[in-house]
Amino acid sequence: MPAISFVDARSTVLREVFKNRILPAVESVPLCDAAGRVLAEAVHADRDMPPLDRSMRDGYAVRSTDMPGRATVIGMVRAGQNFAATIEWCEAVEIMTGAPVPRGADAVVMLEQVARTDDVIECERPIKPGENINPRGIEAKSGAVVLEAGKRIGYSEISLLATVGVSTVTVFRPLQVAILATGDELVPVDAKPLEHQIRNSNAQALASQVVRAGAIPVTLPVAADEMPAIHERVERGLGADLLLISGGVSAGKYDLVEDVLQCFNAEFFFDRVAIQPGAPLVFGKVGAKFFFGLPGNPVSTMVTFELFARAAIDLLSGRKASPLAVVLARLTQDFKHRPGLTRFLPAKVENGEVTPVAWKGSNDLVSFCRANAFLVADAKRESWSAGEMLPVILK
Ligand code: AMP
Ligand code: MG
Repeated sequence: MPAISFVDARSTVLREVFKNRILPAVESVPLCDAAGRVLAEAVHADRDMPPLDRSMRDGYAVRSTDMPGRATVIGMVRAGQNFAATIEWCEAVEIMTGAPVPRGADAVVMLEQVARTDDVIECERPIKPGENINPRGIEAKSGAVVLEAGKRIGYSEISLLATVGVSTVTVFRPLQVAILATGDELVPVDAKPLEHQIRNSNAQALASQVVRAGAIPVTLPVAADEMPAIHERVERGLGADLLLISGGVSAGKYDLVEDVLQCFNAEFFFDRVAIQPGAPLVFGKVGAKFFFGLPGNPVSTMVTFELFARAAIDLLSGRKASPLAVVLARLTQDFKHRPGLTRFLPAKVENGEVTPVAWKGSNDLVSFCRANAFLVADAKRESWSAGEMLPVILK
């Protein structure tokens, strides 16, 4: 198969997974365990938000038509209280942030904008009706959808769920993602490798990325570069919801992953992408199960996971979409690359500026760990000057 572009590869993953996905079963979890999970049903406001006209400032509740001018302070209201009386002509009530605005008042004057002498305040500026008041129901009306099904629950969603009284949350079951590292050269992390051996860092990296993506990693024993071993592990891996394989997808004589997948009648959507790192990236499906063959060089493995596998996990987990968080940053120095491939290069982003991190290729973990972002270099362009805005993806 010819290499396809980054954009085509990503849209293929999103399209195929979305089209063919079978949503996970639904379960209920306590709110305190819901962070990171995906909502399986919409959440509604259980009352108007805010439930009453609410002061946004410390100050005085007044009738805007009385201002500029003077008013007599007839009492005080703070958060957690309700003021019983109604404000009449040239009256005011001292009010705290979050407190309900007393009847009769239609604005709140900030503390800093009045002079108070005993029980009389004086304000010299005109006050608009509604000033410093969040009217009842302005954020959401009772019964309105405040969170859609398919949303990943982060800290802000936890706060909103708590606000509308959802103490038990209906979420999708977390995805099980099988991780299979292949390679004759691999030894466990706690082994002392011989010169020609390397520790299996990819299985560890992928497991942590899977966890960060809100799924459960199921790490399989390493497969040597031989058909029967890979065959046996792939069969086990296809029992999970998604299978990630590292290594064995390049063009070498001992890159057997695609041959093994052929034995399972795999459908291949692509097996090469015009990107660096990570060109020999394989994406396909055996029956209803999707798999990725991620290239074995550690940086390639991690980057292709973030660019492609994470999107598949999101959609299979029940999310509606999986946008890449691309932002623009100003380049601090001139930058060049060889066109033809879309490159995702280690970079440092700070205060809106991006600086490429010097690196020695897709095995160079030491440099990769100095980066907090990937700088995205367009395949069709060769050079950029300092000061230009470049897309970056935060790591
Ligand atoms: P491959 O894609 O199988 O040709 O692997 C390319 C290179 O990536 C290998 O020569 C190893 O140096 C490295 N590599 C492969 N698998 C792993 C792994 N599980 N952990 C760390 N490095 C790996
Ligand atoms: Mg290999």
